[in-house]
Amino acid sequence: MQPDMIYAMGPKAYVLLPARVLAIMQSFVVGDEGQREAGGILIGSHRGDHIEIKDCTVPLRSDVRKRFLFDRKDRGHQKAAMTAWNSSGGTETFVGEWHSHPEDYPRPSSLDRSTWRDITMRENRKVIFMIVGRKELWAGWGKTGVIEPIYPVI
Ligand SMILES: [Zn+2]
Repeated sequence: MQPDMIYAMGPKAYVLLPARVLAIMQSFVVGDEGQREAGGILIGSHRGDHIEIKDCTVPLRSDVRKRFLFDRKDRGHQKAAMTAWNSSGGTETFVGEWHSHPEDYPRPSSLDRSTWRDITMRENRKVIFMIVGRKELWAGWGKTGVIEPIYPVI
């Protein structure tokens, strides 16, 4: 098992990504699953300036999965966020989204960036974005239309 990952959003704010959640995302870039993009939302909690990711959703029936496109259409993702919110007593919620790219070192497309900007304009807190590739994970955070890459500190 890989270690948990910590990403820095500037000097004093961190994102915790548990190895378990990373492994779930990575399972969608290998074998048959890797033939089409996959994705879901990241569920976790805001702790001051920090974000602790606790879980992620995976592709559901009504999502659109193509070779170079994932469109999160299924309402089950939002439902999972609501369930987490209710069962955690209002601490766990949507903190971001992830999808896969069929490439070793993924980079956000212009469509990714415009979709993400829209999401940050709807949320009034930081949002985490991740793209899992075959060899590397791209991660970033955004707020009010601005997306910045983030890097692991350990
Ligand atoms: Zn993409």
